[in-house]
Amino acid sequence: MATSQDAPADVSNRKTMTPTLPDDIHAAAERARVLRDELQRHNIAYYVHDAPTVSDAEYDALMNELVALETKFPELVSPDSPTQRVGAAPVSAFGSITHKRPMLSLGNAFSDEDLRSFDTRAKRALGMDLAAPVDYICELKMDGLAVSLTYENGVFTQGATRGDGTTGEDITQNLRTLKSLPLRLHGDKCPALIEIRGEVFLTHQEFARINAEREKSGEPTFANPRNAAAGSLRQLDPRITAGRRLQIYLYGIGETQGYRPDTQAGLLDQYRAWGLPTNPFRQLCANIEEVIAFVGEWQDKKNAIDYDMDGVVVKVNDIRLQEELGQVARAPRWAIAYKYPALQVQTKVEDIVVQVGRTGSLTPLAWLASVAVGGVKVSRATLHNQDEIERKDIRIGDTVVIQRAGEVIPEVVRVVLEARPEGTVPYRLPDTCPSCGTPVVRPEGEAVTRCPNVAGCPAQLQTRFEHFVSRNALDIAGLGERHIAQLIAAGLVKDPADLFFLKKDDLLPLERMGDKLADNILNAIEKSKKTTLSRLIFGFGMRHVGERASTVLARRYHTLEKLAAATADELEAVHEIGRITAESVAAFFALPETKTMLDKLHRAGVEAAGDDSAPVSDHFAGKTFVFTGALTQRTREEAEALVRRFGGRASGSVSKQTSYLVAGENAGSKLTKAQSLNVTVLTEDEFASLLPDSV
Ligand code: NAD
Repeated sequence: MATSQDAPADVSNRKTMTPTLPDDIHAAAERARVLRDELQRHNIAYYVHDAPTVSDAEYDALMNELVALETKFPELVSPDSPTQRVGAAPVSAFGSITHKRPMLSLGNAFSDEDLRSFDTRAKRALGMDLAAPVDYICELKMDGLAVSLTYENGVFTQGATRGDGTTGEDITQNLRTLKSLPLRLHGDKCPALIEIRGEVFLTHQEFARINAEREKSGEPTFANPRNAAAGSLRQLDPRITAGRRLQIYLYGIGETQGYRPDTQAGLLDQYRAWGLPTNPFRQLCANIEEVIAFVGEWQDKKNAIDYDMDGVVVKVNDIRLQEELGQVARAPRWAIAYKYPALQVQTKVEDIVVQVGRTGSLTPLAWLASVAVGGVKVSRATLHNQDEIERKDIRIGDTVVIQRAGEVIPEVVRVVLEARPEGTVPYRLPDTCPSCGTPVVRPEGEAVTRCPNVAGCPAQLQTRFEHFVSRNALDIAGLGERHIAQLIAAGLVKDPADLFFLKKDDLLPLERMGDKLADNILNAIEKSKKTTLSRLIFGFGMRHVGERASTVLARRYHTLEKLAAATADELEAVHEIGRITAESVAAFFALPETKTMLDKLHRAGVEAAGDDSAPVSDHFAGKTFVFTGALTQRTREEAEALVRRFGGRASGSVSKQTSYLVAGENAGSKLTKAQSLNVTVLTEDEFASLLPDSV
């Protein structure tokens, strides 16, 4: 039976954990260096790759230690310390946007005591009597991605990530796909300019849907809703963002011209009046004790809402007082984030089972004695890889502390050594593949162990087939996991191209197969012969080649033959394709098995004719268009799709490289910028007249 010990419901007396600090400056400097390097690595994994390698609680512990060290030895503070900076620099694949006012982080509170000291600090800084009350507003802290939206004369013109706080990534087109975000503010009292800040996040339901789909198509699943939201928003292709139901709540303000709120509560009311989504759960508190009560109330309530909240943000309500308080390096002095502890429970590792993925990767999974963590039943946890198992020394039979990181996916935090039974042994991944028995390999410098039997390993074949028939690849409905397993076991299919040679007599003997289903499957297989090149490339399931890279390759090469003939250097020269992907593609097409498969696909009559999204002509080749203001004849997405369809580029920001700015009604700063750079400005009618007659 599992020994379960839910986190205590009352955490009000949780103390901020203060690590033991060195007394000597040299030792302190060395420790600070180690912590900075480590935090920097975590920042890149979290903010740039949307794939953290440690839990937020572990990250916060490292950050707290660095803050404590720098407080004890102020001479160690350097401007590039992670304690002084926000996030990470924007990624260059996106255009960049400089925030008119910086986007800051927030200081943290972990206990009632921390909240009371925040209150005292604020009053001292304001020169107030310490017994006098201050009005605070409590808001839920959604665990997502901070964004800044610019509205000019009521029209949404620009959207950016927080980036390093000063400069963020231009994700205007992606934000436009959010259904709840108005492209024009309601009402007529719109300021000339306003930067509106908020959080983009995913509901648990949508997160589960996206991950289920990714699992089916063999793509790596997202670790938690925050990473999924960040990964969905930071897409180079807005169509992918549009397919994910992202949510947004607005809560903050940057630069404004023509509007100034008196209070934070008034700001949120105004946002609602403008039709902007705001979180309905908020409370005005007359003093810090009321704040503490609100935080306590949400300790339990937070498990009942369908998105992750990792705390409560407490803000001084009066904007004049906020301005007086100002900010320190990376956070305002008028707000603080109370963070709830991660939900932790203890349970037992009953077994460690190794799964073999589509590309042969071996992933160890802990099979746990089933236990509830915050109301969700947990019986599996990923152990990632051999290094991770060794780092935590996790053994079969161990009692472990698990937590739901990001409140959803369980992870093993540590082993309860005191409870380790006698006779356990350190766990090592098997030397041979659990599916086909081939000796496994672990390439130098990689964390992942793989089965190299690409062509013959049944586990790899199984997942590769599942991927090939999945909805976003060849979309062959009806052929289930069990059917595939039986076809492989019977030796009827060795690679996905064999599917096109299946006959009804091959299918009928399979379990759960009827006459009608067999016909349907054969029809679906026949129909899938006419597919797009990007789907086929994606369907091959090459390492590092997801949907986006498949589309890019299809657009560049137009036929499978040309793609197969490209060298790694040529592939790397394609915009958005990196060295690792280029090498993976070249290596795949160099395999004799691939050549055999391509030959079979050709014989079967599979026609991957170009790509829907590939340009149909060079009409706009070499031209870059920017659209601004409110368009009336077609949406901005449609206009941009037309530009791309005819070989041009559509961009979100004006630069010297812009060929035309198409200005709709109420065009704002982009128009001014285009005029100052002598960029040709077109009306919508003029743009329409440039389009080919066929449109
Ligand atoms: P933060 O998440 O502690 O607080 C600031 C953020 O809160 C804002 O930027 C905004 O995005 C968000 N927020 C949500 N609701 C809000 C509201 N109502 N009002 C104002 N802000 C609201 O700070 P941060 O700088 O964004 O990130 C630091 C945190 O990120 C760390 O404490 C850690 O939890 C996590 N992190 C984890 C790793 C990792 O490797 N696991 C790495 C880097 C950061």
